[in-house]
Amino acid sequence: MSTPAIITVAITGSVPKKENNPAVPITVAEQVESTHEAFEAGASLAHCHVRNDDGSTTSDPEKFGQLLDGLRKHCPGMIVQFSTGGRSGVGSERAGMIPLKPDMASLSTGSCNFPTRVYENSPELIDHLAGAMLEHDVKPEIEAFDLSMIFSAVQMEKAGRIKGPLHIQFVMGVKNAMPVDRQVFDFYVDTTKRLAPDATWTGAGIGRFQIDLVHWSLERGGHVRTGLEDNVRLDKDSLAPSNAALVKLAADLCPQYNRHPASVAEARELLKLQMVG
Ligand code: MG
Repeated sequence: MSTPAIITVAITGSVPKKENNPAVPITVAEQVESTHEAFEAGASLAHCHVRNDDGSTTSDPEKFGQLLDGLRKHCPGMIVQFSTGGRSGVGSERAGMIPLKPDMASLSTGSCNFPTRVYENSPELIDHLAGAMLEHDVKPEIEAFDLSMIFSAVQMEKAGRIKGPLHIQFVMGVKNAMPVDRQVFDFYVDTTKRLAPDATWTGAGIGRFQIDLVHWSLERGGHVRTGLEDNVRLDKDSLAPSNAALVKLAADLCPQYNRHPASVAEARELLKLQMVG
C-alpha cells in the first residue's frame, strides 16, 4: 500500500512578481482561486504570504484574516500555514497574524544569508514568535536553512518552547544559504530521524531545483513543497501556468515512489492537527 505525501503549495511568497509570471496570485481573491485549483490538484497544505494590491509585501493581519476566511470556505479541511518570514515585515510584527489561529506558521530557528541581505532571526525574536505560536496553539513549521536550525528546533521542543512533534522543512537552493546537495540532504534526514524520531519533514527546493527536492523527499519518506513562491517555471522552456500545474507535477511523481498525495484528513493526522470547520 502506498503511503501519503503531504503536498505543500507555496502560492505567492514575497519575491515573485506578475512581471516574472502573470500566474503569481497577488490579491486575496487571486490567492483563493489559485489555492483552490492547487487543492483540487492534490495539495493539502497552503503556505501563505500576503501582498498589497500593488504587489508590495506586507504582513497586515487584516489581509491574512481575509485569506484565511476564503481558504476555509473554498478549500475545506486544507491546512493553512502563514509565513512569519522576514521579507514581509520587521521584528515582532511578524507575529501579528498568529492570533488569527491559522493551523500552522513558519518559524526559522536561526539566521543566515539570503541573496542580497542577512535573514535575521535573533534568539529573542525566535522566542517571541515561538511564544505567540504556543499561546495560540499554532503549530510551527521549522524552516531549516542550515543544519544548526534543526538542532535549535530540537532543543526548543525539549525545553517546552515548541509543542511537538516537530515538523521541519529543509530549504535548499536559496542563494548564499544552503545549496541543493544530495549528501547534505541525506544528512539532514538522518540527523532529524536520530534527534527527533517522531518528527515529520518536508524538502523544499528553490528555482529549477524544486523538482529534485520533490524526487528526493518522496524517495526518503518525507513530504514535498512546490508552488510559485519558490519557482515560477514549469520547465526550462516555459513558465508554470498556475500553482496547480506545479502541484500536478509533484502529484504525478508520487506513484513512482509508492506514495500518493495525502488527503486533508491524512495530512492532519500526520501533522497531529485537528480538523477544522
Ligand atoms: Mg515563504
